[in-house]
Amino acid sequence: VGLSWSHLICLRLGWECPSPTRLPPHPALTESLSSSTGKFWHISDLHLDLDYNESEHSLQVCPSAGSRPVPNAGHWGDYLCDSPWRLIVSAFYAMKMNEPNPDFILWTGDDTPHVPDESLGEAAVLEIIELLTNLTRKFFPNTKVYAALGNHDFHPKNQFPAGKNSIYDRVAELWRPWLSKESFDLFKQGAFYTEKLPANLAGRIVVLNTNLYYSSNEQTAGMADPSQQFQWLEDVLTNASRAGERVYIIGHVPPGFFEKKPNKAWFREDFNEKYLKVIQKHHRIIAGQFFGHHHTDSFRMIYDEAGTPISVIFLTPGVSPWKTTLPGVDNGANNPSIRLFKYNQTTLDLQDMVTYFMNLSLANEQGTPHWKPEYNLTWAYGVPDASALSLHTVLDFIANDRDVLQRYYLYNSVMYDDTACNQTCCMEHVCAMRHVAFRDYAACLSASG
Ligand SMILES: [Zn+2]
Ligand SMILES: [Zn+2]
Repeated sequence: VGLSWSHLICLRLGWECPSPTRLPPHPALTESLSSSTGKFWHISDLHLDLDYNESEHSLQVCPSAGSRPVPNAGHWGDYLCDSPWRLIVSAFYAMKMNEPNPDFILWTGDDTPHVPDESLGEAAVLEIIELLTNLTRKFFPNTKVYAALGNHDFHPKNQFPAGKNSIYDRVAELWRPWLSKESFDLFKQGAFYTEKLPANLAGRIVVLNTNLYYSSNEQTAGMADPSQQFQWLEDVLTNASRAGERVYIIGHVPPGFFEKKPNKAWFREDFNEKYLKVIQKHHRIIAGQFFGHHHTDSFRMIYDEAGTPISVIFLTPGVSPWKTTLPGVDNGANNPSIRLFKYNQTTLDLQDMVTYFMNLSLANEQGTPHWKPEYNLTWAYGVPDASALSLHTVLDFIANDRDVLQRYYLYNSVMYDDTACNQTCCMEHVCAMRHVAFRDYAACLSASG
């Protein structure tokens, strides 16, 4: 199927491999490239730490490191810290360099640093959202941005209420230039909305507030349908279906399980089930789902009852390199990354995905930030496009071929963790990618274990 084994071997031997994007595209991709191919950026988890500095006192480099000492802090950031301002600015420069005129931008939240609530407060959370909103508008003044709030974009963090509050109000004002009147009003109720894509494009974007489904959110515990978001989603998709539209769904906290820690789900189980049901019912018009929160590069398959792949959730890695403190995750940092999708402007079918990254330790060593393509999906895995069927094929490769697994595993941390993914690691990743439903995931783990 056109997998380049020479590139695989090259990757395993060292770092000086030819960049995938400099090679001719896959023949199937060339065929599908036409005047109706468009591009959009997906960025997530910027986690700005305004107090980052290159202090030689290892405990004074960044609040986001907590009690972890940070020796030899670099100019562009550190794997133990959230993003310094200049790292985020360099990410925007990289977007401008690589695709200055995207059709639109998806921005799936988590703007503030990993620090205790007491060190932030509502004003600081809003200030950071405003800084990043202004930065985005400065770099892309004429581009539509579809933005979602992350679980860190509230005070206290994770505690998103199922109704009106001052943070939804204020963020609606900040994002007003990107919102229709209807979306602006709706955002104030529950921080979700839908927009038709810009006039020259077919289709619709649905921005969800899945923080309402996060098990750490005590505000929505016991509720059947917080903010009536599920009912609203059902109505939006039913209307879109009648209107012949195709839809992208975006949000911050994804359904399903974390691939780096067994049995770690984010949604409450009943919300997870409800979400899956909606997707299974309306999958024909859903052309893609885009989430963040993991900071890792992975994807989730959704199948129908007959086992046919019907939809894909793309998890984009973070801009912040911050090494997670989640107990049970070993060495969970990543290189800063941004992602470009190529898609059909008429059908919204996804054609390819290119992930760009900055090798943070190299950037600090050399003194200059160097963003370059990490891989593109079709070339790296030898599939014709980024459809559900293609991603199902990719998952089969990952599950059955150690070399492909190892390649995926390196991408998973954006070239940060080059250790071997052993059998347990393989099982945990593959079960998480294949099964979003709680029961199916548990059965997968126990069958493989
Ligand atoms: Zn995050
Ligand atoms: Zn998050």
